[in-house]
Amino acid sequence: MKTFGRCHCGNISIEVAELPTEVTSCNCSLCRRYAGLWAYYAPGEVNIHYKDTEKSVYIWGDRDIEHHRCHHCGCVTHYITTEKCPVKRVAVNARMADPELLATLKVRQVDGASF
Ligand SMILES: [Zn+2]
Repeated sequence: MKTFGRCHCGNISIEVAELPTEVTSCNCSLCRRYAGLWAYYAPGEVNIHYKDTEKSVYIWGDRDIEHHRCHHCGCVTHYITTEKCPVKRVAVNARMADPELLATLKVRQVDGASF
């Protein structure tokens, strides 16, 4: 596993099997507010480490995605699909990565607002 990034206070840190080369910027009602840049993985390709066991999660709409944020510093670190979603996926937010990695990533625009 490779170090991907962490939240501002360091409570949540993220490792991935391979660093991404491309991330998604989505204009849906939630992603545009979070300003997330998402890199997608299968569940076994990501390790999420919490220093603190308390989790803070936001679920809305179809209830098929859990957005996770640090309950100390508020950074939105990743999302995980729930049992309601047929696709098992973890998306990590490249905003948590070091600027050096972030600068190398191609950003793909996704029109989530139209779905
Ligand atoms: Zn934090």
